[in-house]
Amino acid sequence: VREEAERYASVAVPVPVRREFTYTLGAELPDRPSLGSRVRVPFGARKVVGTIVGWEESPPEIAAKPIESVLPGGPVLDPAMLSLTKFVADYYLCSWGEAIEAALPPRGAATPRARREARRLAGARSDSLPGRAVAMRRALEAIPADGSGVAVHALTPAERRKIPALVGLGLVEVVEGIDRATPVLPERAGTPIEARPGPAPSAAQAAVLETLLPAVREGAYRAFLLYGATGSGKTEVYLRAAAECLRAGRSVLYLVPEIGLTPLLVSRIAERFSGTLAVLHSGLGRTERARTWDAVRRGERRFVVGARSAVFAPLTELGLVVVDEEQDGSYKQDERPRYHGRDVAVVRAREAGAVVLLGSATPSLESFQHARSGRYTLLALGGRFEERPLAKVRIVDMRKEYREVGEVRPLSREMIRALRECLGEEGQALVLRNRRGWAPSLYCPSCGNRISCTRCSLALTWHRSAGLLRCHACGLERPHPGACPTCHHDELREIGAGTEKVEDSLREALPGARIERMDRDTVRGRGAHEALLRRFDRGEIDVLVGTQMIAKGHDFPNVTLVGVLTADQSLGLPDFRAGERTFQLLTQVAGRAGRGSRPGRVVIQAFDPAHPILRDAASQDYETFFDREIAYRRVLRYPPLSALVQIVVEDERDARAATWAASIAAALRAEEQGRLLLTGPSPAPIERLRGRYRHQILVRSAGRMRLVGAVDRALRAVEGAVPRTAIVVDVDPTSVL
Ligand code: ADP
Ligand code: ZN
Repeated sequence: VREEAERYASVAVPVPVRREFTYTLGAELPDRPSLGSRVRVPFGARKVVGTIVGWEESPPEIAAKPIESVLPGGPVLDPAMLSLTKFVADYYLCSWGEAIEAALPPRGAATPRARREARRLAGARSDSLPGRAVAMRRALEAIPADGSGVAVHALTPAERRKIPALVGLGLVEVVEGIDRATPVLPERAGTPIEARPGPAPSAAQAAVLETLLPAVREGAYRAFLLYGATGSGKTEVYLRAAAECLRAGRSVLYLVPEIGLTPLLVSRIAERFSGTLAVLHSGLGRTERARTWDAVRRGERRFVVGARSAVFAPLTELGLVVVDEEQDGSYKQDERPRYHGRDVAVVRAREAGAVVLLGSATPSLESFQHARSGRYTLLALGGRFEERPLAKVRIVDMRKEYREVGEVRPLSREMIRALRECLGEEGQALVLRNRRGWAPSLYCPSCGNRISCTRCSLALTWHRSAGLLRCHACGLERPHPGACPTCHHDELREIGAGTEKVEDSLREALPGARIERMDRDTVRGRGAHEALLRRFDRGEIDVLVGTQMIAKGHDFPNVTLVGVLTADQSLGLPDFRAGERTFQLLTQVAGRAGRGSRPGRVVIQAFDPAHPILRDAASQDYETFFDREIAYRRVLRYPPLSALVQIVVEDERDARAATWAASIAAALRAEEQGRLLLTGPSPAPIERLRGRYRHQILVRSAGRMRLVGAVDRALRAVEGAVPRTAIVVDVDPTSVL
């Protein structure tokens, strides 16, 4: 027995329990594996793949089980990434194992599928199968009896199909193996890379670069907030900073909110950095993704562009992290681990000694507050490139419109006039309606009943072209009931207009115009977005109507009109960020107009045209918006002026969820010592979701780490009393519905 056999490994396992587990290194294992190695371990009745995160010299209190095998290929995480995932676990209150899973390519596939191996388990003989299971016997016989294993892709399709059944019978196991040729840990980057030259910077860009580039060259942590109107040339600043970083021999991480929505940006980056660019996006197949990941790990690709999860890309010698549209809500993951990609990016940059560059025309209150307080250096780019004017904004009062027209129509007369003028001058138009479907709800004029989801406390949306009512929260689909299910009155009325109905109204108002719709119903499947955006870019579409998908960073020089319908609807949501989100969306979409040589205009339809948020958005006046909004957050003690954790307790039975929420609140109160501010427990704004009742507790405190620590201890205190699966903890939530 070797001495190492006495060692105990601390293993992070991807289960929602916030602790690591101890396993022994059996004598039959080869050399002691490095930290960050993947190991197969028994966990309860299952086998799971975990990661070695530490060593313990003394035996644990309960007898430890042995590690079953170490996956080949060496560690998947280097010490820096281990420490980053540990931060994610401790800050977002998930297990280290869960954080590690989030940091690896999806489904643990640091291992291309082709490298999976099927192995016979001891004693698995084909004559132990029933005689009629011919195909199954053949499949088992294709796998060597000596346990040496065969690559799954080397089996015939018929044999492959039987593998799951053989695994189910306990005769065969499938092992993820990593190509042995993959180096254990990445080589150092270090060699300079020259990007292709870009356009000469404008005076405003040059001024900003004068501060930024020396910091990139210096190679120490600094945080910058690049604040400039839409179309001010921020992207060009990111690319210049990236070129500088590669020239210095370090690597670049460039995060965008949703990569499928920004194909044109990706081509622009590729033109300059193609030799070293790796684009990580969900459209890649598993193998492709794993291959890209490996190329980054080996240091062959040193410029990674990707969405949220790319924040964990295995780059070494990181010198620059760009977070484009840093205010975007899609940086926040809405399932465990509920991390915020932008905030993890800042932590990663700090640990790596890199520059982090956040950019936006409408920064999050968090980032702008940091810039005001001096934690971030503010780089103001000012107005648009070449002083192209920002679009002129008009707000149409829809109450007045309805009074004058005498009926409810989605498009106001002014909107139709503006659209006709725009198309008459060969311009293109974008029309935003941030709600898909034909009608957001159906209601009975006789009894007042609203057709709701049976599982959620939300109205069902009528999708006329699909002929279905759909719940946008849980996906439930039902046929149109025809008559009111409650009182059998035979005519249901449509309330409001979604993108489908708006598209229809546009066709009626603009005969002959080429109109297309972009929302999640029309752009399913890979590449559909991109195809639509490219057609719009080539001028093959006159009017593109859609949800917030059309508002994101696109740069279409021929768009001279942006229309927004029901702009103030989202202001009514019971969420402290409702104003911020509405302002951002309106400013973003307004910024799509007039980016080329011709000036743009924006027409916003609203029911409450005097609302201050709409006024600020109309004048595209971020700082006035910021000052008012931050004052409101200060009074109400909301972020960024205090840290916030949302706890939701869910259960099929309302009373049980309420009881559990009450015990969590009690545990928090025991923690608080006057320093935590508790709101609730009370029913959440969306009281029921997917058949589960929801009770909410909001916890606030001036200090983030103190708050997270207190919540962690309180949740540990109720362990056993409240099932883990009933609790959803969201640190720094972006929405509290
Ligand atoms: P933002 O990212 O701030 O929205 P972009 O970087 O997309 O702005 O720039 C807006 C427009 O100005 C784009 O069409 C871009 O090609 C152009 N542009 C920006 N900087 C320059 C430059 N230095 N030289 C020439 N064109 C530029
Ligand atoms: Zn539902």
